[in-house]
Amino acid sequence: MSQIKNGNKKNVRLYKKVRNTTAWGPVALLFALLVFFNVLVVYMSGFVLEYIFESKFAEGYSQVESVAKMYEYGSDDESIMELIRSGDTAFVVTDKSGAVIYENGRNTCGTNSGVIKMSNGAEEYMVYQDSEAGFFYPKEDGTLGFKWKSIFKWAISLAMMSERETISESEEYSIINGVYVSFTDEASPDTERSLLPAVMQIESIQLPLWISADINGGEQQFIGRAYLGFNMRDNILACELITAVITVIFIIALVMTIYIIRTAVNYRRVVNLFYRDPVTEGHNWIWFVRNGEDKVRSIFTKRESFAVVNLVFRNYRNYCLCHSLADGEVLLADIDRVLLAEMRKNEMCAHATMSNFALLLHYDNDAALAARLRGMIMRLHGLGQGHSFEFQAGADTVLPQKEQDGRIVRRKDFSIEQAYNNACSARATLGKTEKSGVRIFDSSLLEAQRWDDTVREKQWSALNNEEFEVYYQPKFDPRTNTLRGAEALIRWNSPEYGFVTPGRFIPIFEKNGFITEIDHYMISHVARDQKSWLEAGYGCVPVSVNVSRAHFVENDLAEQIRDMVDRYDCPRELLEIELTESAFFDDKNAMISTIKKLKEYGFAVSMDDFGAGYSSLNSLKDMPLDALKLDADFFRGEGSGDRGEIVVAEAIKLAKNLNMRTVAEGVEEKSQVDFLAEQGCDMIQGFYYAKPMPKSEYAEKMSRQTNG
Ligand code: C2E
Ligand code: MG
Ligand code: MG
Repeated sequence: MSQIKNGNKKNVRLYKKVRNTTAWGPVALLFALLVFFNVLVVYMSGFVLEYIFESKFAEGYSQVESVAKMYEYGSDDESIMELIRSGDTAFVVTDKSGAVIYENGRNTCGTNSGVIKMSNGAEEYMVYQDSEAGFFYPKEDGTLGFKWKSIFKWAISLAMMSERETISESEEYSIINGVYVSFTDEASPDTERSLLPAVMQIESIQLPLWISADINGGEQQFIGRAYLGFNMRDNILACELITAVITVIFIIALVMTIYIIRTAVNYRRVVNLFYRDPVTEGHNWIWFVRNGEDKVRSIFTKRESFAVVNLVFRNYRNYCLCHSLADGEVLLADIDRVLLAEMRKNEMCAHATMSNFALLLHYDNDAALAARLRGMIMRLHGLGQGHSFEFQAGADTVLPQKEQDGRIVRRKDFSIEQAYNNACSARATLGKTEKSGVRIFDSSLLEAQRWDDTVREKQWSALNNEEFEVYYQPKFDPRTNTLRGAEALIRWNSPEYGFVTPGRFIPIFEKNGFITEIDHYMISHVARDQKSWLEAGYGCVPVSVNVSRAHFVENDLAEQIRDMVDRYDCPRELLEIELTESAFFDDKNAMISTIKKLKEYGFAVSMDDFGAGYSSLNSLKDMPLDALKLDADFFRGEGSGDRGEIVVAEAIKLAKNLNMRTVAEGVEEKSQVDFLAEQGCDMIQGFYYAKPMPKSEYAEKMSRQTNG
């Protein structure tokens, strides 16, 4: 059992591991990596861009510086000035206060829009944007910023450029929004350009900007227009490279994402497989335990009450025998389907084992739950179609747990397996007689279960420590009031549990098989006692010992009893065997042969509790018994009047006709004794004469009678 439980726990652990392996972790990691790479790419691009611009600025500075130098030395020399003016130069010369001293070309220097302080390592210089083609600007911290909006607009206007605005044949370039753009040779003037082809056909662009250079020992500033030239072929190559890298990253990300999603889907499938019952194709026990426990423990349901139910289809084995295992499994699947249809929100049903189903239902009160379960059983009967099916249900309730101050708390220690086990125990108490029924677990059942376990646990030590005592209840002849016999009855004198009567442990021993040990124990003790009393000179009378039906499965029972009695050298006629009526339902032939053997060996055999069951009359016909013990029920209660007397009288007559003695059990009244004496009952065993007593007391009684 514990192995199964451990196995189950192992499975649940494995399941948890599988279930918790979701795709979210790797997806998050992938996402984080993508973000990281993006940031890295952006940062690196910014860094590279800045580097490129700085070097371009430095280039621009040297262009401007050379013109500035020419101006510095040749401002008075008209031929030099002519030379300067003849080029496509534009510049402004200012004095220290910023006042313009000289201007050449169109002054589009954006001095108002801020200045970027740059350095080429040796000198520091200022950069101003061109007021017409301002694609960059000085940021507040003096570094370079890009006017993305202008760049975008510029790109659009380039794309929208109509034929009319195309390159004039005389010029090598077009000026678009202040930017000088030269096109490749393939660029046809009549090509209507869409954004991409137009961009693709650009050979280079020249961004104008203004750079200052100190002249005349810093007294004046020469601010000249320079062009930052960008060769688009290189840029396109760079763009293609970046596109390729991004594409590769994207493909890797896509493949990884697909892989992760597929793995996650497969995990889900494994989980579902793990939870699926192979017979019903519905949910299985592990699903029930896992989810049921979570549900009941959940913070959301802590105020709700639940019932954990064990529902059993009792005819499963027979059905499979009459039909086939496959038909039986189809039927189980149908049962599962019917039960599933009965489930309400937050309720669960699963196939547990064989023909057992586990349910988790809402609970209001015992009556409502029992009614609901009976309703379900009614509907399940409908599956029978000609067969009469039996279903039994047991339930254990799970109520909200409260703290001492009445606050409801989480049921963190709740175990659905324990609750289901309780439900099974409750169901088991219905036994075989209640065909279809419902039983709800209560604490008395738990007590019974605990006691059952305690008895099982203690039985061997109790036997070895001689805690079981033999009590003797005398049997008297009602006509002479003399002692004619006795019955040995067991008592458990437990140091822990006190004086325990057989009703509390004999049924447990009968269930667990320990009863055979008890029977041996009693026979040997009685044989030993009888022998010692004989030796003491008492007038011993036969003592009957109860032998359980469980014992009759042993073929050599008669021999065992004979040997035990002989071991103590006790005359066999001093020991009688009592068989309870229920024992007669077992293998009749084996029973007859054992009785015959016992009689052969010299033991008397009697039928105990005659009249308490059903077919004892029939058994009498074949069993060569010596005595009939009329059950105590004949002499109990109100109904034991005239009709009862007729039955008892006839039973005694019947026994006589079959050559059997009669013993009346449970006789407490004088009137009953008189009546029985009148009817010729041979012996009476009842409180009227004596209660079961310890060995010493019985011996004393015997000695008195012997001496008397
Ligand atoms: P049983 O064999 O039918 O024993 C008779 C029971 O009736 C005894 O109960 C006895 O105390 C009780 N009894 C006798 N006269 C009266 C009476 O006038 N009034 C009332 N109220 N009760 C009376 P006990 O000792 O509790 O035993 C109960 C049953 O336990 C026995 O029924 C027998 O079936 C079983 N049992 C007892 N000892 C043994 C044993 O050693 N081996 C086996 N296998 N079963 C035993
Ligand atoms: Mg008895
Ligand atoms: Mg009896």
